[in-house]
Amino acid sequence: MSAAYTVEAWKLDDLFSGFDDPAVEASIARLEKDAAAFAGWRNELSAEMPPGRFVDIVAAYAGLVGLAIRLQGYAGLRFSADTQNEEAQGFRARMQQLMAGLDNQTMFFKLWWKGLDDEPAGRLLDAADDYRYWLAALRLERPHTLSEAEEKIINLKNVNGSAALMTLYDAITNRYTFKLTVEGEEQELTRGELQVYYRDPNPALRAQAYQELYRVYAADMPVLGQIYQFRARDWRSENLDLRHYSSPIAVRNLHNDVPDEVVDTLLAVCRNNAPLFQRYFRLKARWLGVERLRRYDLYAPMAKTDKTYRYDESVQLVLDSFHQFDPQVADLARRVFDEHHLDGEVRKGKRGGAFCSGLTPDLTPWVLQSYQGRPDDVATMAHELGHAIHFMLAAESNNVLTLFPSLPLAETASTFGEMLVVDEILASDPDPELRRDLLFRQMDGAYATIMRQAYFAFFEREAHAEIAAGASPNQLSDLYLANLHEQFGDSIALSDDFRFEWLAIPHIYQVPFYVYAYAFGQLLVFALYQQYRQEGDGFKPRYLQILRAGGSAAPVDTLSRAGIDVSTAEFWQGGFDVIGRLLADLEALPVEA
Ligand SMILES: [Zn+2]
Repeated sequence: MSAAYTVEAWKLDDLFSGFDDPAVEASIARLEKDAAAFAGWRNELSAEMPPGRFVDIVAAYAGLVGLAIRLQGYAGLRFSADTQNEEAQGFRARMQQLMAGLDNQTMFFKLWWKGLDDEPAGRLLDAADDYRYWLAALRLERPHTLSEAEEKIINLKNVNGSAALMTLYDAITNRYTFKLTVEGEEQELTRGELQVYYRDPNPALRAQAYQELYRVYAADMPVLGQIYQFRARDWRSENLDLRHYSSPIAVRNLHNDVPDEVVDTLLAVCRNNAPLFQRYFRLKARWLGVERLRRYDLYAPMAKTDKTYRYDESVQLVLDSFHQFDPQVADLARRVFDEHHLDGEVRKGKRGGAFCSGLTPDLTPWVLQSYQGRPDDVATMAHELGHAIHFMLAAESNNVLTLFPSLPLAETASTFGEMLVVDEILASDPDPELRRDLLFRQMDGAYATIMRQAYFAFFEREAHAEIAAGASPNQLSDLYLANLHEQFGDSIALSDDFRFEWLAIPHIYQVPFYVYAYAFGQLLVFALYQQYRQEGDGFKPRYLQILRAGGSAAPVDTLSRAGIDVSTAEFWQGGFDVIGRLLADLEALPVEA
């Protein structure tokens, strides 16, 4: 069907042929010139301006963004491919500087647009066509916007107030070091290095790693706890008292452009399904040969298979699985390989992990992974190519401003692609260890992105309310421990040191209520997969329509146009039904501890 693919580094020629490519300096010069011209149109902006001129200015802004993305994208890709390369480091720093300057130079446009009255804004929006949702989304928070003078004061005071407090939280916690004795030798570790031991095969080491984490954080509870109290009180006084949001979480919901009721329904369904993961933890205990899992053992390594895939086998497997779903999906994925946009090599200095980077609509996305032939690498390839497909389908009809799906939809095609490949392997490969490993992988992922995040959100909801009622850091720790007891039931042994976990979750400090978006995105895909299983071919056009929409509409509108109603509990339950089936498959395997 196609030539065998071999593992390679990517080609970036579609962007620039090198740092010394004359097009680099020419692009920078053009960007600076265009930005200056854009800034010169400032005085033309007014409530009475001709809609045609308004659209021209938005299009010029999109042009600037496109050019900036090309340059910044090239800088990011070169750096990821070789993080130790000084030229790449220098160019990246230069581009960051350039982009910050560009932001400052063009910010006036967004500020003017957000501040414009509804009536003239509506008139201009009606002409905006392809840019409509991007423009409308910028105005979402307008009903909660205060007078210009008030906004100025909030901005000014935030810099050294709430934002400064978050900088302090980072500054304090980033300095922590952790002591761990590994093979008789005491080591001093960063948090990142410590976390590796949560997955260590040695149960004692796993426990020590967590105990050390919470020893350090708990010692600072009087400070870290107060920071959280200040953050929650500030969130409430600004957003509820001044801006009249209905609840602390409603602020985030509006930002994500997802209705409050949809989020409430999603979270309620998560809560109802806590027993599903409790069942999973009991099963995991059996496989590990213990009576009951300790919280320390949640991420104990389960992989047993030594099965590997040659690179070309892996590519073929992914393309075949995509082809079975829909030939055009496979064709898009093949384009990434044919244009040499996937860097799969294992190299020193290359960025770890994997990502897909989509830049502008006219460019095929780039994918980075370090391919080592494990089943996990096959799933990762499918995941990142899923992102690439999403991007390419969205690129068919979107501009650079409406291309990128918002957070709740951002993982749709990636996770879906991963499911297709994993299902294909499960259906075609009888190797029981491989099956087991893949099922554990899916379950661990579902737990970490859905249930764990949903319970973080429950804690945030309760904590914000309790802090308003005067709760102390100690009472918040009690609240957190109760939250964990509800989440796990009696499925695991939960030691009291986990009562301090909330002090160590940067998200709940930095971006309140951000976490539920992970649960939303992941469960959405499982629910869509469930519909695919039930409807077969009839589902495909609706699914592709969601991907094609990119970021051109509110997530809920994109889904409802494809006939998907996320406001019902049944829809979200469908997602858990898929997870339940994975678990049942796992439970059906004979346990060999
Ligand atoms: Zn992803």
